[in-house]
Amino acid sequence: MDRLTLRQVPIYFLPFLFLLLTGCGSGTSSASAAASGVFVDTMTDQFLKKSFDDTKACTGLAQGTYEDLSVVFMPPSFDCPYYASGCSGEFTEPNLVKLGTLFVWRHELVHYLLYTNTGDPDTYHHSPLFGTCGVGTSTS
Ligand SMILES: [Zn+2]
Repeated sequence: MDRLTLRQVPIYFLPFLFLLLTGCGSGTSSASAAASGVFVDTMTDQFLKKSFDDTKACTGLAQGTYEDLSVVFMPPSFDCPYYASGCSGEFTEPNLVKLGTLFVWRHELVHYLLYTNTGDPDTYHHSPLFGTCGVGTSTS
């Protein structure tokens, strides 16, 4: 029996062969199943920390640390006292941030940083920092 050479492989088979050679067929490995449960990858923590540092630098506010925060991941929309339809993010004094999506992370950080530095989280977004840092609309 002759060995199959690349020249003998039909052209329509080449993309499949490429996938096999690049390891995309992970279903063929003998890896054990991942542990069940909900996990947050360490890259998420690194992303949150870097975004915190960037936001803090943007505001110019000195007080407040990433390590001080308590962050809770929530469903995309959750009950809150501010909107009848629910919130996708919420800061609660003194250090709790609830996130329904990572897109509101920096917005909630501005509330946290304002609270930590001034004692007022600016619930109604009058601070120009929301606009300056591109995390929401300033109403003043
Ligand atoms: Zn807000």
